[in-house]
Amino acid sequence: MTSAKPASWPRIAKDPAAFQRPPNLADPARTQSEFRWRDAWSWVDGLPAGNGLNIAHEAVDRHLLHGRGERIALRWIGKSGARRDVSYADLAAASSRFANALSSLGLGVGDGVFVLMGRLPELVAAMLGALKARAVVTPLFSAFGPEPIATRCEMGDARLIVTTPELYQRKLRALRARLPRLAHVVLVGDVPGPLLEEPGVHAWASLVDTQPASWAIPPTPADSPSLLHFTSGTTGRPKGAQHVHEAVLAHAMTGRYALDLHADESGGDIYWCTADPGWVTGTSYGVIAPLVCGVTSVVVEAEFDAATWYEVLEHERVSVWYTAPTAIRMMMRLGTEPLGGRDLSALRFMASVGEPLNPEAVVWGQQAFGLPFHDNWWQTETGGIMIANVAALDILPGSMGQPLPGVAAAIVQRGADGHMHPVGPGIDGELALKTPWPSMMRGYLHEEARYAKCFDGEWYLSGDLARRDDEGYYWFVGRADDVIKSAGHLIGPFEVESALIEHPAVAEAGVIGIPDETVGEVVKAFVALKPGFEPSEALLRELLGHARKRLGAAVAPKSIEFRANLPKTRSGKIMRRLLRARELGLPEGDLSTLESDEKK
Ligand code: ATP
Ligand code: MG
Repeated sequence: MTSAKPASWPRIAKDPAAFQRPPNLADPARTQSEFRWRDAWSWVDGLPAGNGLNIAHEAVDRHLLHGRGERIALRWIGKSGARRDVSYADLAAASSRFANALSSLGLGVGDGVFVLMGRLPELVAAMLGALKARAVVTPLFSAFGPEPIATRCEMGDARLIVTTPELYQRKLRALRARLPRLAHVVLVGDVPGPLLEEPGVHAWASLVDTQPASWAIPPTPADSPSLLHFTSGTTGRPKGAQHVHEAVLAHAMTGRYALDLHADESGGDIYWCTADPGWVTGTSYGVIAPLVCGVTSVVVEAEFDAATWYEVLEHERVSVWYTAPTAIRMMMRLGTEPLGGRDLSALRFMASVGEPLNPEAVVWGQQAFGLPFHDNWWQTETGGIMIANVAALDILPGSMGQPLPGVAAAIVQRGADGHMHPVGPGIDGELALKTPWPSMMRGYLHEEARYAKCFDGEWYLSGDLARRDDEGYYWFVGRADDVIKSAGHLIGPFEVESALIEHPAVAEAGVIGIPDETVGEVVKAFVALKPGFEPSEALLRELLGHARKRLGAAVAPKSIEFRANLPKTRSGKIMRRLLRARELGLPEGDLSTLESDEKK
């Protein structure tokens, strides 16, 4: 593989004296060698009387048993500026009410409970309540159109859905005839009277709020089904990854070690995860991990807008912030000016996930916030963060970090025997994880063969290509499906995109391979510009020159096209497969997770 030298970005050294709080993972190398997953049981209680392990018990009820019920679990900020503080005791009661409501409808163990709504406290209560009843929870993006909602409800056998009157009327009502198994719809907020006359429609206020606030969680074996998460659909049709309650051990570990969440008597972290609960980050790290760790989560209902976000960081005194490259790049477009004069002194740790984080963005964090972004890697299938830049570790910008304690990662290649084998540092291959770990998916819904293909012996194969360096840092190369083969080189789109966004005019880049008779594929880039820059021949030539200088002629794009925006999934990932399909006039495939305004 030809590659831009990672070393061209200076190492960001960590100075222990500069930490606002000593990191939970103070000696990553030592803990990595000593940690065993059974150690994670010390962070959870398990259900009383040895009745197993239930995510909702660990997330809320346990805190009450330890006298922490009055702590704030959620600090909700509504679109219109309304605010609501929800304590751990409030959340325990609300989720128990929801579990009782399910039971009153004859629903419980194994039944599909879906949630389709924006970031409201009821969403958290419904998720946790369903977990308390041992139902199987599936979050859906509230921005999904009717078709993706219908196919997921059908696939996941939804029996009940929690949503708002508005979303029900706009998207769901017309689908009900097609979804005979979806017996109940619970509407949050003010429900217009006539809606309540429709079959199976209930108002949250009368169905849930009237229930008893106590609920005894039924015995929950650690491997009982908990959540069904659909993947982002970046590379094709979304898959339904099936998870179990035991995953909470991984959330407890990663909340502490990867996100460095601290809870203590003097007041714990104020934590903000910006991900939508419609995808796995918004559930695992927007809801479960921070609650398990006992901190306060800020929940912001409004969609992204840099000014509002900076306001939240400052006024809520956010200390730990978990966001995504697409949001960071949007902030970078605006420069550091909007941050001028703000007091962000509470902020001490910033992390990012979901897509490769360009080195430029890591370093921009330092200019804008005085802190670098800590990239970490995982997928819907892994259920929790696996590889991370942790607080105590130096950052090599552009690297995803190192495997967390309990995670055995390797770069593997197929050998002559047809099986995957680890390769040494500096060599590209597929990123693999040694099985098992607690939050590992237990199946792809209705797709056994596809699930089986993810494994070779003890290895889970992620479908991502990466390399490891001498120090043990992992570097993302690209998704196996996205990698470009040109004139004998394997080119990862990420390094080409990263080089392009170093240029001051470039906000975002998406890079694909175009079939070519002579060299196999040629590299083509699509580029969105920052405000104040206009597409022109001169800029085009300048970008081509910049890329050639930075990457060498073999790897640099041969052509560049300007775009106002790049197509993205709902979770904000650039869909290279769509750029490619459109460029080559190929079928566009499943577009259910595409941002709707670009669905043309
Ligand atoms: P689908 O599997 O349906 O194509 P998806 O892979 O985007 O969609 P997710 O499970 O939401 O679905 O995303 C996980 C993937 O996102 C990873 O496999 C990887 O390709 C990418 N990713 C996540 N975090 C990082 C990161 N820090 N660096 C590089 N890539 C990342
Ligand atoms: Mg995937």
